[in-house]
Amino acid sequence: MRLTVLGGSAAGVNTGAGCSGYLLESTSTRIVLDLGPGTLLELRKHTDFRRLDGIVISHFHLDHVLDVAALRFSLAYNPIAPPSPIPLWLPPGGQAQLRAFASAFAEPGEEDAFFSRVFDVEEYDPRQGLEIGDFQLRFQPTVHYIPCWAIRVSSADGSTDLGYTADTGPATPLADFFAGVDAVTVVARFQALQGAVDLADQLAVAVAGTQFQRVLGFAGRALGFVAWGIEHDAFRAGDEPVDEVHMTLSLR
Ligand SMILES: [Zn+2]
Repeated sequence: MRLTVLGGSAAGVNTGAGCSGYLLESTSTRIVLDLGPGTLLELRKHTDFRRLDGIVISHFHLDHVLDVAALRFSLAYNPIAPPSPIPLWLPPGGQAQLRAFASAFAEPGEEDAFFSRVFDVEEYDPRQGLEIGDFQLRFQPTVHYIPCWAIRVSSADGSTDLGYTADTGPATPLADFFAGVDAVTVVARFQALQGAVDLADQLAVAVAGTQFQRVLGFAGRALGFVAWGIEHDAFRAGDEPVDEVHMTLSLR
């Protein structure tokens, strides 16, 4: 399983880095987890966007889904048409949300066909999981203010597992859900990091040490960052500024 981080920014794009989006590839299967703003640009550098075997959306927040609309236009108007519609897997209730999303851009009467023209739009059942080519996907609800699903992706040969928290607060069940994964992509919030001389070091310590273990119950060793991005002062806790961090870590 090959992981390409398409973006590591939280909430809004940072300079040179889009929001949440992850390309996973085997020798015969290509899927994308989330496609936030700024990630289609990166996706096109790494693979043929017409030949994805599936796009799986964790939840319907803009920083996880906006470039699905951008991809819709790329697929509809690129001179080389895709060989077949790309499966677009939405969380429960996602069909209605996608239709509402389409209504902002579609011509009157085109709302239903706006996305289905290029995507095979389905909702996944988080209890059933998904099988897409070489990958098996399982889902676990996170702690978020709209329904959101963490995703565990396992390669068919059992060699590699990736855990994607999507957006979550502390969620004890995720510790079992992610047990034994080789890499994890995580969104985390840290207070009092402003002014840090070496932010990466601070984050590495925080993640490998207390925060990550407390949040996800991970007891192994974080080998390092694959990618990370930070949004300073993402929100306020009382008067205290809180940074939000999106990061992907390799683990063992
Ligand atoms: Zn969210």
